[in-house]
Amino acid sequence: MSKVRRVALSAGLVLAVGAAVAIPSSAAPTTRARSAGNHPHGPSPALRSMLREIDADRIQSDIAKLVSFGTRHTLSSQTDPNRGIGAARDWIFDQLQGYAAASGGRMTVQKQAFVQPAGPRNPTPVTVTNLVATLRGTQAESANRVYVVSGHYDSRCTDVLNFTCDAPGADDDASGVAAVLELARVMAKRQFDATIVFMAVAGEEQNLFGSTFFAQQAKAAGMDVEGMFTNDIIGSSTSDKGRRDPFTVRLFSEGVPTTETPAQAALRQSIGGENDGPSRQLARYVKEVGENSATGMHVRLVWRRDRYLRGGDQIPFLQQGYPAARFTEPAENFAHQHQDVRVENGQQFGDLLQFVDFAYTARVARVNGAALANLAWAPTAPKNAKIDTTQLTNDTTLKWDPNPEPDLAGYEVVWRESTAPLWEHTIPVGNVTTFTIPDLSKDNVQVGVRAVDRDGYRSPVAFPVPAS
Ligand SMILES: [Zn+2]
Repeated sequence: MSKVRRVALSAGLVLAVGAAVAIPSSAAPTTRARSAGNHPHGPSPALRSMLREIDADRIQSDIAKLVSFGTRHTLSSQTDPNRGIGAARDWIFDQLQGYAAASGGRMTVQKQAFVQPAGPRNPTPVTVTNLVATLRGTQAESANRVYVVSGHYDSRCTDVLNFTCDAPGADDDASGVAAVLELARVMAKRQFDATIVFMAVAGEEQNLFGSTFFAQQAKAAGMDVEGMFTNDIIGSSTSDKGRRDPFTVRLFSEGVPTTETPAQAALRQSIGGENDGPSRQLARYVKEVGENSATGMHVRLVWRRDRYLRGGDQIPFLQQGYPAARFTEPAENFAHQHQDVRVENGQQFGDLLQFVDFAYTARVARVNGAALANLAWAPTAPKNAKIDTTQLTNDTTLKWDPNPEPDLAGYEVVWRESTAPLWEHTIPVGNVTTFTIPDLSKDNVQVGVRAVDRDGYRSPVAFPVPAS
């Protein structure tokens, strides 16, 4: 399917959704239907220009450079200047430092190093280093709100303990690191209300060491991470059967939060909400802002924490209660992952540069960029959202706390059929903190509220719980 046709199809879907909107007639005077797109006019000019700068040639050279270190196994040399994870670590750090130089002092880069005690996949203790570039938000009310985008720079071959074999890791996960680098480069020059962390972690293949450490530290420091994306295996658009799907990226997200307490489970069982956890709202948001003519991409939402038998760097964030999701290419080729580089019966095995589609990785980076920029320009999702259940009624009343941002324009109440995957109906309700949808029974639909700023940037949706 050509790019043009894919975009046209996407637009057609949006139109179809918009046309299906039916608002209770009694609510009509105060409501106006909008398409399902998060930004009513598509990507803003500022976003469009930012996404245009994401460069497939740079992604190609970054992945080639990472492959050139031979192996980036977490237990490989940390001191050899040419081969091993230490050389890769220093090169990534230098790239991020270079981008930070163009940030006007807003981006700072650190090596977050720690010693991982010996375990099943590391017979000896090992120093693990995350490269963390923090682009500080410029709006006082939003600067403590953080979004994280990550890839892992370690690699492996067939034997997860073998730290001397060639492990090019072009797709898994130099592709993700290259996307993070490219995002850091184009976003460092721009200002955002909220803070964005661009991160390359190590120890993923040994058991998510780097991301676990970062997420634990963030939680201990009270960091308000309102969204995390890992980009892991975003380099190939061709399946092992040879099927090409160059305009689709999968986004895995959990519905029921990993950290759900028994009390929260009881509440969820009584009202529904297994498809409305914070990570699922984040994933819906990515679909709304990430599918457009500036990305040329279709975001295939998968309602699952990760693939069967597999995990990724989003999981430690979920374990700390942070919303998180995983980007991965449409169909993996397992002969190209976690494999010794070799030819067997005429088939090439190994995670080699030749199998990477750099233009595809650039498009996935643009989807990330669209999500991150929208999130970091937008207000936070309304806090303390409640749905009134004090009496039996067929009206639906929501209330929420006022947002703190000075550029807040107001709020939108959204709803959908309980069986529908995406928000279907939008009511701009103005700058209020309570709203009643007359003659729309909360028994039949899922309802939420989001904040909108004066430039039209929308927050993710807050899913209300019953007012107590
Ligand atoms: Zn990986």
